[in-house]
Amino acid sequence: MRRPTLTFHGVGTPPRPLSPGEEGVWLSQSEFESALDAVLAESPVRLTFDDGNASDTAIALPALVRRGLTATFFIVTDRLDEPGFAAAADVPRLIAAGMDVGTHGNAHLDWRTLSVSVLRNEILTSRARLAALTQRTVDAASCPFGSYDRRVLKVLRECRFQRVYTSDGGWSAPTSWLQRRTTVTPTMTHTDVIELVTRPPTATEQTVLAVKQLAKKIR
Ligand SMILES: [Zn+2]
Repeated sequence: MRRPTLTFHGVGTPPRPLSPGEEGVWLSQSEFESALDAVLAESPVRLTFDDGNASDTAIALPALVRRGLTATFFIVTDRLDEPGFAAAADVPRLIAAGMDVGTHGNAHLDWRTLSVSVLRNEILTSRARLAALTQRTVDAASCPFGSYDRRVLKVLRECRFQRVYTSDGGWSAPTSWLQRRTTVTPTMTHTDVIELVTRPPTATEQTVLAVKQLAKKIR
């Protein structure tokens, strides 16, 4: 049975100048809490956070814990301890609170633009750092900018990642290696988020999503 996965980025007053495109995915605390309340009743929803912002532990973690929710946090490891981003010491705190972590790369690069050796280094060094911080196996990755192609997926498979998260929209089976996600944006209302997590794509929508994803997988 397919289920939805939502992606969040930074939350609250931005503590640093935002990169191009970040304004479109950065939520106020009330927008974030409203989205969490929309998913509260829908247990099959999976929650993820990209980029390793300082708000992951400052705002998101307590809001999740209050609601009995868990999430996977995809960390950009070179940014740990940088101003506005999570501290390295925050990573074991996430695990201790029942959350999971995965890699979003060392430096938030577009993985399609990297040579195979640089890409392998980008994800393996990051994974090793997270494994050392968490004292556990790290086997999930999310693609920066949602960008991937056949070569990126081949490297991720060779590196034995168990789940790879995209930004392709739609729902995925829990057993699917490639997990579709939908980013929650400031323009979405509480009702929009409820619809995202309660209304599965129709057969026609599912076909369109599958064709789009296939085009990325084989390019
Ligand atoms: Zn990102």
